[in-house]
Amino acid sequence: MTQSSNHSITQSSIRVGLGIDFHRFAEGRPLVIGGVEIPYEKGLLGYSDADVLTHALCDALLGAAGLGDIGAHFPDTDPQYRGISSLKLLARVVAMVRDAGYRPVNVDCVLIAQAPKLVPHFPGMRKALSPILGLPAEGVGLKATTAEGMGALGRGEGISALCTCLIETI
Ligand code: MG
Repeated sequence: MTQSSNHSITQSSIRVGLGIDFHRFAEGRPLVIGGVEIPYEKGLLGYSDADVLTHALCDALLGAAGLGDIGAHFPDTDPQYRGISSLKLLARVVAMVRDAGYRPVNVDCVLIAQAPKLVPHFPGMRKALSPILGLPAEGVGLKATTAEGMGALGRGEGISALCTCLIETI
């Protein structure tokens, strides 16, 4: 049987991306998720502000545009990224995606956390993320679930974020 295709990925006007990230909790750190500082007894450990949601979003966008991943562009060995707001990294990622000829259509994200409650902070996260992404609030899907007590996330040892995005040619 002959395989035939007249469709090339580089000719596609839309592309999908997927990103996932994990950060463990640590004492004496602020908890920053989706650009929002959330009052809690501990924060996430990381070289930047450890914003797990924004990191997963960066990876989804980079993946969609065929640009690799966040670690390749913002290595944690580079002092300029120490303690940096991940919103600045996201802005740079969106600029890279635009330079590649694409813009975000929508993003959809799930946070997996046993605690704290994250849903009350979704409006603030949307307010922080949507202008950087160039999207209306309804273009930024946010959901949260627990891990039902299973595994490290279920024991509250950290938080994970999973994001998908769609981008289209400008
Ligand atoms: Mg990360």
